[in-house]
Amino acid sequence: MSALFVTHPACERHVTGPTHPERPQRLQAVRRAVEASGLEGALVWDEQPPEVDPDLLERVHRRAYIETVEALARAGGGWLDTDTAVGPESARAARLAAGAAQRATEVLLAGGARRAFVAVRPPGHHAEPGRGMGFCLFNNAAVAAAAARRAGRERVLIVDWDVHHGNGTQAVFWRDPSVLVVSIHQEYWYPGTGAMEELGEGPGEGWTVNVPLPAETGDGGYADVFTEVVLPLAYACRPQFIVVSAGYDAHFADPLGGMVVSAAGFRQLARLMDEVARTLDAPLLAVLEGGYHLDALATSVVATLEAFAGRPTDPAAWREPAPAGLGARRPGRETPPSAIATRLRTVRRLLSTYWRL
Ligand SMILES: [Zn+2]
Repeated sequence: MSALFVTHPACERHVTGPTHPERPQRLQAVRRAVEASGLEGALVWDEQPPEVDPDLLERVHRRAYIETVEALARAGGGWLDTDTAVGPESARAARLAAGAAQRATEVLLAGGARRAFVAVRPPGHHAEPGRGMGFCLFNNAAVAAAAARRAGRERVLIVDWDVHHGNGTQAVFWRDPSVLVVSIHQEYWYPGTGAMEELGEGPGEGWTVNVPLPAETGDGGYADVFTEVVLPLAYACRPQFIVVSAGYDAHFADPLGGMVVSAAGFRQLARLMDEVARTLDAPLLAVLEGGYHLDALATSVVATLEAFAGRPTDPAAWREPAPAGLGARRPGRETPPSAIATRLRTVRRLLSTYWRL
């Protein structure tokens, strides 16, 4: 079956300023790479998803915060914090980005596809119920999970492999024992949260999982996190819907991350998620988050789609960018697996109170 690819041209009209890393060119690069990938026949494109249903958005964000974003855009624009710009067309772009996530979820739940990728901006995983931050306005992945819950799916899994902690998604579902939120991120990095001990609260205790990793973790280290933590958790939870917060800023060429994952590494992570989804017979949706090196981002998205579509790309479309100069981060010079193994043992020990892994 074909994979669904959802985007919207208005997402490029969220203008953040000439030097901002989260810029419209990101989506242009993704679109060009997907078109050149040879995957065309395996993808169903939807470029006109509707705006998000306001009721659904209010399951994720407080009305006062939504109104703040809308009012700022109406007033011609401004900043939510030092990183997070709102331009005149940003609120609409954010409603459409969340709407794209909603649309993809609904198509998947109706059986119209089994895999979907949502290529939108502004990104979402730092956006908390009552505030946007870290380039994020509305939390698109959380909207997808909320849409699946609203449609009656009892358990949803969100796996966030962006290099930054998904604090927003964590905050949305902090007390919720129906959405298991797993974030894998670089330790001591923006926004500073996401310690292993952050496990959720009240009825949601054990439903938030954080795997902070040392800088320069590479493909092997990430694959270990998936086989040791993410996959066993998924099989213990048995979600009926799976969302990946797919940021690509853990790529070795990314200017905002300190990891050494390659596009081939992301393809492997996507394959592992695809395998889980197939075993559990659950639809799988990936929503774009970060990724600020245009070639690395575009190639990594194509790599993800290749795993979702279950067929190879045109090799000519593979342009794993070269590491930028002497001393640059690169694959092959990675944090040793032993340093990660110790950490994974600690995470599994913390989780053993809640899950049989
Ligand atoms: Zn990020």
